[in-house]
Amino acid sequence: MSSRKIENPEQLREELVRLLRNFEETLKNENLRFKILKLAEAFGKLRRLGVAVVLLEEADSNSASDRILLYLRRYVGSIVSGDELMVVSGIQDYPRRVRELRVQFGWNILSGAAIKQMIHEGDLIVTEQTKVLPDHYLLLHDEQDKGSAYRWNRANAIRKEKTGGGKQKILKFLKENVGVPITGEELRYVAGDSSEWARRVRELRTEDGWKIKTRHTGRPDLQQGVYILEDDLQAERHDRNIPDHMQIGVLERDHYRCLKCDWSRDKLHPDDRRQRLELHHVKYHSKKGENTLENLATLCNVCHDLIHRLDKENIWSAEQFYSWVNPTP
Ligand SMILES: [Zn+2]
Ligand SMILES: [Zn+2]
Repeated sequence: MSSRKIENPEQLREELVRLLRNFEETLKNENLRFKILKLAEAFGKLRRLGVAVVLLEEADSNSASDRILLYLRRYVGSIVSGDELMVVSGIQDYPRRVRELRVQFGWNILSGAAIKQMIHEGDLIVTEQTKVLPDHYLLLHDEQDKGSAYRWNRANAIRKEKTGGGKQKILKFLKENVGVPITGEELRYVAGDSSEWARRVRELRTEDGWKIKTRHTGRPDLQQGVYILEDDLQAERHDRNIPDHMQIGVLERDHYRCLKCDWSRDKLHPDDRRQRLELHHVKYHSKKGENTLENLATLCNVCHDLIHRLDKENIWSAEQFYSWVNPTP
């Protein structure tokens, strides 16, 4: 890595102004090549000025990657445009550096294509009102994800498989990573950059009963922009198809706690079989029990298994269920 001589931003600015001021004359020149060469010179100076401005703040951000990372880390959670990264890095090929930071160094940087889909499906909420373009970027959190290099290798292998569509590939990748937060960027890649990947994720969750959670679908402890498959079992058929807003309503009403044993995620421990919260239909869906607040109850996975063993045929009334949940002494 060569140490870059810090240029004087003010001097660069003056040179740039002079070039642009003289451009009035340049524009009158008959020779197209001459005009373009002058513009290219201005373009080059502009990028050198961008680099100088960053170096003024952080003198040891020598490489283009260093400066891109510095800039993204300063604006974590914000949408940053490719033009900004070009100015900051001083190079044209900044997308390659962004990919390296993501894939080799584990910085969870979303691309515009992923951001757009996630916003559309309600999986990502951003404050910016801007229209998201493919060369936009967003660093999800200010820390390196240690497992990400390995996961990107697996994502690449699954993506290349001849069999299965995007949805099957997303599921396969999630099943290899049960309990691990996965970024939307990874899922998009696995699905072969399909523009519909986020919708496929939603279908896996809402139609096929896979317990894929996000911060906005029942796991407020998760960071934005990541998906987690909680276990590799599909939900019981009678528990599927509960709309997201209803799931969240029930969880919030029950304060994200198991009604029976009071377990909550902050008590998560590897030696405890209780690993997640699930929703139980007091009257099963198959017995015309509805997806309503009244008919749904939050249980941990252990208590949920238990109630299905105790009341195999689902003949308990709501009163019986609630007196099991909360026996009167
Ligand atoms: Zn419980
Ligand atoms: Zn149930």
